[in-house]
Amino acid sequence: MTAVRDFFRTFFLWELLLGLKLTGRNLFARKVTVQYPDERGPQSPRFRGLHALRRYPNGEERCIACKLCEAVCPALAITIDSEQREDGTRRTTRYDIDLFKCIYCGFCEESCPVDSIVETRIFEYHMENRGENIITKDQLLAIGDKYEQQIARDRAMDAPFR
Ligand code: SF4
Ligand code: SF4
Repeated sequence: MTAVRDFFRTFFLWELLLGLKLTGRNLFARKVTVQYPDERGPQSPRFRGLHALRRYPNGEERCIACKLCEAVCPALAITIDSEQREDGTRRTTRYDIDLFKCIYCGFCEESCPVDSIVETRIFEYHMENRGENIITKDQLLAIGDKYEQQIARDRAMDAPFR
């Protein structure tokens, strides 16, 4: 009996008709495909993209070289060197993140006591040459300077849940 049923299903292209039925059902339905990059889906203020180091409004860098982010990073992606300045404060002399090692877990920004290291909404970046996966302190500060308004807005939106 099964063989007969299979024969007729094959003969009348039953599976093909089932597929066409599905296609027909969705042909005039509302389109859900986002035409990236012309269209973009919504992004959460908690989005964990490319990192940035922030400054205070007076231009002073926030990072106090406590190395909590370096210690908490599960991928060992952060490398920090530091020294004491003449005024007695401590600042980093080196702050590197290896973007190949980073798993974008957000632990570094969660651990930072002064909201210095953050992850931004930036996800469209690439490397073309060996070594560009290491993002330096100067690069991180430049990203922070450029996107500070967005970063501050996102932190404010997230503040009630922290
Ligand atoms: S996001 Fe996670 S893996 Fe990446 S640098 Fe921060 S703590 Fe390390
Ligand atoms: S970024 Fe934050 S957690 Fe990391 S060393 Fe600087 S102050 Fe400490």
